[in-house]
Amino acid sequence: MENKRLYSPTHIKDILDRYGFKFSKSLGQNFLIDGNIVRKIVEEAAINKDTYVLEIGPGIGTLTEELALNAKKVLAVELDKSLLPILEESLQAYNNVEIINGDILEIDINKIIEEKLNGGPIKVVANLPYYVTTPIIGKLLEEDLNIESINVMVQKEVAERMIAQPGSKNYGSLSVFVSFYTDAKIVIKVPNTVFMPKPKIDSAVIKLEIKKDLPDIDREKFFKIVKAGFSKRRKTIINSLSSYGFDIEKDLIRKALEESKIDPQTRAENISVEEFMKLSTVFPPLNI
Ligand code: SAM
Repeated sequence: MENKRLYSPTHIKDILDRYGFKFSKSLGQNFLIDGNIVRKIVEEAAINKDTYVLEIGPGIGTLTEELALNAKKVLAVELDKSLLPILEESLQAYNNVEIINGDILEIDINKIIEEKLNGGPIKVVANLPYYVTTPIIGKLLEEDLNIESINVMVQKEVAERMIAQPGSKNYGSLSVFVSFYTDAKIVIKVPNTVFMPKPKIDSAVIKLEIKKDLPDIDREKFFKIVKAGFSKRRKTIINSLSSYGFDIEKDLIRKALEESKIDPQTRAENISVEEFMKLSTVFPPLNI
């Protein structure tokens, strides 16, 4: 395939002019214009001719094209209807690409995997719209889908929060959530110059490898306790948990902390995922 030039800024401008397309800030539209980054994203995701890929937000198809050249099949979900005719033109040379118009947060992803991606396992690859990064990652992880890895561009600060370890200032409920489900790392640091229009912030590509055997715990209870623990970062864990509104006596909370070998005077930012998990198993039942 000769036509590998979707990422050239002049080509993008030409497409946008011809279709009268206007970037939507509210849909997080910052398109990639750097071929090296596009290739690196696909390389880091280790896509090959056996890989089924779900892409979120193909834009004008820049990353989609590189994925199509390397993968077995790419299924891309784009919310913005006005991009559909553009995608049709820019990806016409590829017969292993399918575009669905819809909101990734509303779509039944399990059904898509079953019906359009051979049942999985799949890899998710995307330059995510920043305004919905966390809900999208949340949905992909919580629904127990047949996903092998999630390889996505996110805001640099969000990437740092996702991979943060106990004791660091970025460690919080998002870090615990991501670490419960995945092995996470930052694979590429990306300057804002590779996008059109240029966002104010820097970005990073993060790789989340989904863990196969998740601990058999009450996840809802576990995540509520984590959220409560981090609700007042400056307070001790005993005070955060007892003032959260669980309506559980402080002494019972202290007992659960001690049983989990967590110092009641420490703060949530020093508590590991394993310690939070242990705590959730001995914590009194929650009424909220
Ligand atoms: N992949 C393209 C690229 O890298 O050049 C575009 C990435 S741009 C950061 C994000 C894309 O996600 C836009 O095309 C936007 O319209 C789309 N989008 C925004 N919200 C979405 C949603 N909820 N579901 C699906 N696509 C969405």
